[in-house]
Amino acid sequence: MRLEQELKKRFGFDSFRPGQEDVVRSVLDGKDTLAILPTGMGKSLCYQLPGDLMDGLVIIVSPLVSLMEDQAASIRRRGEKRVAAVNAFMPSDERRQLFAEIGTVKFLFISPEMMTRPDMTRFLSSQHVALLVVDEAHCISQWGFDFRPDYLRLGDFIRKAGNPVILALTATADGRVEKDILGYLEMSDANVFRQSLNRPNLYYAVQRAAGEQEKNRWITERLTTTSGPGILYVSSRKRVEELTALLQGHGIRIASYHAGKEAGDRQMIQQQFLSGELAWICATNAFGMGIHKDDIRQVIHDQMPASAAAYVQEAGRAGRDGKQSSAVLLYVPDDEQKVRFIVQHDLPDEAQTAHYLAMKKNGEAAASAAEFAGISETGARLIDYYGEHGGGTAVTEIFTGLRFDKEEKLRQMIGYAAGQTCLRSKLLHYFGEEPAREQIPCCSVCGDMAETWLESALPAPGERAFLPYEERIRLLLC
Ligand SMILES: [Zn+2]
Repeated sequence: MRLEQELKKRFGFDSFRPGQEDVVRSVLDGKDTLAILPTGMGKSLCYQLPGDLMDGLVIIVSPLVSLMEDQAASIRRRGEKRVAAVNAFMPSDERRQLFAEIGTVKFLFISPEMMTRPDMTRFLSSQHVALLVVDEAHCISQWGFDFRPDYLRLGDFIRKAGNPVILALTATADGRVEKDILGYLEMSDANVFRQSLNRPNLYYAVQRAAGEQEKNRWITERLTTTSGPGILYVSSRKRVEELTALLQGHGIRIASYHAGKEAGDRQMIQQQFLSGELAWICATNAFGMGIHKDDIRQVIHDQMPASAAAYVQEAGRAGRDGKQSSAVLLYVPDDEQKVRFIVQHDLPDEAQTAHYLAMKKNGEAAASAAEFAGISETGARLIDYYGEHGGGTAVTEIFTGLRFDKEEKLRQMIGYAAGQTCLRSKLLHYFGEEPAREQIPCCSVCGDMAETWLESALPAPGERAFLPYEERIRLLLC
């Protein structure tokens, strides 16, 4: 088949981006496929094109409602109207309507939580499913950084649906996550395609500070003198609000974003950032997945994330347009203690696990048993899942292993922040890639650069400085 012709006809592109063609051909050959492609490499084309050419329904499991809507909209934009998205917020009458008309749907987006509900599994597995796409497939792995327990149950669906072709997509997966994806999705004979994670146009830097005060000073200086668009990643909601207030006080067009904000507010802030009305977003890691903004010049981390995979993913949101951009990690020795606490807190300890199981045995519902035992919803789902699928190994023993692994992951991140060798090579090494060839600019270890590619945020001589909103109103009223 002349794939280029189909690509031109359906998408208007003359050629594939690196990695895409192999993936498309593999899927069309009927092979289960795992594609590890860095963000911005056009993952969705990898299922849209084969989906168009295959006979039957294409189901795309996607972890976020905003991501689903975004991708569904992009399919509609190219003229394919047979698209639907179903998530937990959908009213039940709309859902029934959708089921009645499933024959007219070609691309169906669904959340893992919906997908694994018994009635949904029954219904969808009775359809002719040509292709099952698992987007953000690293969410299936507890070793990954965005673990979603419901992804683990997709294997049940795959068996019931008569083993459709599976395409698992992710931007980052080390060897262990790769193994998990292949294992849990039962892709025993899959083609695996991996594109290098190296992003030549990113300059990596670690900025040391003595404490929080110094971090605040550095961030303020940086954001008042260099321009965005940029993301400032922060580890807690409280710190997000504090830093946002501090920076707004300096006249910076920045807004806060975290999971505790109203959905409407989050959407508005996201829009303002996309349109350029806001230059900066100060956010927890809840921000970013599914955000398509190519011209982000800086990603700054106020504190290290829990793993190199998370760092690569978040920092990788800078410079998707290929232009020179910066990824800076601020580091105070001791930061790791805080990160360690957050990371380990997710996993129930032995007493909590026992408490939870005893309550459930007494007929208590999962949600209230979790509350009584003082564990998170994710923690409860993990106990349930490993209780059923642990193969006889005690849940607490599995958790001990997981804790150990999380610690290893964190150690990599500490190695990055505190180490004395090339930052780029270190990140590549964590994902089994060869060290980077000499590149300028590379990183703050290879040679500290004046980041001349960042535009100045200072007003040109004679130009009026940007005034905070309240100040502008005051001047108007005078
Ligand atoms: Zn370097």
